[in-house]
Amino acid sequence: MYLNDKPVVKSRRSSIKKRLLSVAFHSGLVRAGRGLWADSLTVLNYHRIGDVSQDGFDTFKPTVSASAEGFAAQMDYTLRWFNAVSLGDVVRWLDGQAKLPPHAALITFDDGYLDNYTLAYPILRERNLPAAIFLTTGHIEQDVPFYWELLAYCFYHTGRDAITFPNGAQMQWKDAAERNRVAMDLAESLKVLPEDEKAAWVSRLASTLDVSVPGGFFRNLMMTWEQVREMSRGGIEFGGHTVRHPILSRVSLERAGAEISDSKARVERELGKPVLGFAYPNGGRVDFNREIEKLAEQAGYRTAFSLINGPTSLREIKRNPFAIRRIFISHRHSIHEFAVLTNWVNRYRRD
Ligand SMILES: [Zn+2]
Repeated sequence: MYLNDKPVVKSRRSSIKKRLLSVAFHSGLVRAGRGLWADSLTVLNYHRIGDVSQDGFDTFKPTVSASAEGFAAQMDYTLRWFNAVSLGDVVRWLDGQAKLPPHAALITFDDGYLDNYTLAYPILRERNLPAAIFLTTGHIEQDVPFYWELLAYCFYHTGRDAITFPNGAQMQWKDAAERNRVAMDLAESLKVLPEDEKAAWVSRLASTLDVSVPGGFFRNLMMTWEQVREMSRGGIEFGGHTVRHPILSRVSLERAGAEISDSKARVERELGKPVLGFAYPNGGRVDFNREIEKLAEQAGYRTAFSLINGPTSLREIKRNPFAIRRIFISHRHSIHEFAVLTNWVNRYRRD
């Protein structure tokens, strides 16, 4: 999961900006200078595929990366302008056993949501595209909520109109839009708490907002191990994304090490295949560091992925395969914005 869900064109995007973007897209300007960054790896990062506008939507919107149609269009764009590679291809290249094609792209998903199996997998298979899914192993087949999903569910279903934040601030709402804003602010403010405090606070949230969550609700958002095995047999690769999804820079190094290696061991046990890649939860610059990169290396991973924007040059990856950038995709991105995001200039976009 990752919360920095901002549109490429700032909010209240004008129709002029949209039109310029469309012209840049259709004229090919959006891909100007492509030849200069051919020796790079562009890693796309998805979480969920789904329709946020459907009636009764009551889960966390920012983790919905694209609708099924939007995802299919992005995959077609990737096929046209990139050479899709697998995690195994990247590792074979690191080992000097193979070359990577120019404009290599790797498709990745984080967390292990069910729609990766029901919606994304058929679209990938139709196009014969490889992909890697990083699993939060303690949530697969378990009725254990990610805190952002619990928070979203509680705010969608509460009859209350106020809450006290962990810092003591009293927040109120008068309508659904205000309530959603408070929910997003709360998700952000929880992110900076120490993990134990956050867990304790979140465990009281349903009763604070007087909501009861139906049994199995969170388990049903996630894939089962059998679905993971089926996709693995179908060529999808799986990696580690911790057991419980703590932000690793906010827990002890000892716990970080256990989260990193235990998720690897679990996926390997379930699949009977070596696990090559790891994705840092939240993945921003402050969410991991050199010591945590070393823990991933010591656990036996060959690569690890951040959520720092933009493609990574192959030279950078050779130097350090444990901080490969990824491009966070949101359902709010149009295909034109997707084209901008996958351009080298996106490395220089201010978050
Ligand atoms: Zn995640």
